[in-house]
Amino acid sequence: MAEKTTVGSYEITAVIDMVPPPRPTSAMFPDVPDTAWTDHQDVLEDGQLQLYYGVFVVRSDNHTILVDTGMGPGPHPSRGNIVGNLYEELRPVMLPPNVDIHNTNVSPSDQVNYVIHTHLHPDHVGWNLRYSGGMPAPNFRRARYIIPKDDYDYFTQPEILEQNPHVQQQIMPLRRLRLQQIVEGEYEVTDGVSTMPAVGHTPGHQVVLVNSGGEKAMLVGDLLHCIAQVTEPSWCASVDYDKAASHANREMLLDKAESEDWIVCAGHFPPGKQIGKVVTEGGKRVWQSL
Ligand SMILES: [Zn+2]
Repeated sequence: MAEKTTVGSYEITAVIDMVPPPRPTSAMFPDVPDTAWTDHQDVLEDGQLQLYYGVFVVRSDNHTILVDTGMGPGPHPSRGNIVGNLYEELRPVMLPPNVDIHNTNVSPSDQVNYVIHTHLHPDHVGWNLRYSGGMPAPNFRRARYIIPKDDYDYFTQPEILEQNPHVQQQIMPLRRLRLQQIVEGEYEVTDGVSTMPAVGHTPGHQVVLVNSGGEKAMLVGDLLHCIAQVTEPSWCASVDYDKAASHANREMLLDKAESEDWIVCAGHFPPGKQIGKVVTEGGKRVWQSL
């Protein structure tokens, strides 16, 4: 269940960790009336909104970067007790071509140099750490985990942290393990890969830009939850922290993507549609899967 594209010397592959239960459109987009969905029935599944929890692997000969880490192994009571499957899904993407897929001595997770978090919601940080006897250990032990400062500062406030136990479990121990790197503003992670703040969904939400060999891709995190938002950028998810900023940054990045011909990667879109371009057809801006 993987789709990929090439951006200069990087290959970007979409990998699905988990498919959560579908939700009514009104639960996800409470400000959008049912009638407004009439023109967007094609992006719904049985009239419901089906999100996918996808992550992206960005690889070159020198670097393996994971953008977000999904919901985690679970089972997740908040998501119908469904389990995450990222580890198994990563194996075929990460293993060198000459290694047998059943060779369990080779750990694909050891190849990851960087984990970049677009933001700190539970469906984006879930595979960071595993626990044995109450002690945390990194699932990607050779990686630096890159975390936006404004999200870190927000989610670690005592009263917010209390409501977000996943931050306690999957983010806070990284500091003691000396694996975390807090970043601010535009930050160059490595050759051709950088982060850029695009706040609104959360206080520190950032996108990842890949620029290599004259080609470019943006990995937009939760600026886009649903394909309909490409046409309707004012539609904000109920969980958006600052809806005005979310809308403004969505509009800004969609403009940029279309006018400068960027490849766009959106992890919550359905398999086969997570990598695409933003184009105008018949006077409307639409998503064109690659
Ligand atoms: Zn999300």
